[in-house]
Amino acid sequence: MFSWYIFFQRELFVIRDEKDEMQIPQFKECPFGESVDVLDFPVGDVFCKAVAVKERSNVVPGEWIPLRACFGRLSSRHYANASKALEMLDWNSQTLYCGHCGSLQLKKTSISKYCPQCQVETWPKLSPAVIAVIYRGDEILLVKSKTFIRDFYVLISGFVELGESFEESLRREVAEETGIELKNIRYFGSQAWPFPRNIMVGFLAEYAGGELRFQEEEISCGGWFRYDNLPKIPDKASISRRLIDAWVRERELANSCR
Ligand SMILES: [Zn+2]
Repeated sequence: MFSWYIFFQRELFVIRDEKDEMQIPQFKECPFGESVDVLDFPVGDVFCKAVAVKERSNVVPGEWIPLRACFGRLSSRHYANASKALEMLDWNSQTLYCGHCGSLQLKKTSISKYCPQCQVETWPKLSPAVIAVIYRGDEILLVKSKTFIRDFYVLISGFVELGESFEESLRREVAEETGIELKNIRYFGSQAWPFPRNIMVGFLAEYAGGELRFQEEEISCGGWFRYDNLPKIPDKASISRRLIDAWVRERELANSCR
């Protein structure tokens, strides 16, 4: 029986089909040598194997590409399966031992492990983060982050802390990083973000008051930008770009109706 083989050695292994389109390969048996880790997981009627490869090999012609760079180049189904595979491999390598007693954990199902000493079953954990378009009329708040040195502006985002709702987390994060207050928080959508095991939860929120005062440790610069004069923004792999694009369409529509 053929399975989808999702190989990682830091980067993802992909092949080209006859139309030169990027694909996750299918094999009956693993074509590479020794693997660090192999995890089986079904996705619908498809059988996937996430494989952490010890060494790259040229047994099969293909390319090794960072997963993020595969967005929009792999089909969305293949990209989703590769994302899940990367998260599973990360989860597996981080949970070899029981957090209570230190015993070697055993696999129980494709998405759970248990400790034979404590008899405790555990599942993969995600770290949720909130991200938002913050707008004031025709302007959007964009910043450059100090922690990610990239040549583009981003939205405000941050991890949800224990005991917080997503909305509370967003209000706190924005207040801490920019000093402003929000109103009319609207849910937009979410995106699995396997770098390494996060989920991004997106919102649109309106400026409610306060002076911009950036947190020095987090933000190098930023400000309000008009929807029709944006600086360089993230690529289409991210929910932040979908959020910005959706808000720009909203503003275009609102202004065309005036
Ligand atoms: Zn234990």
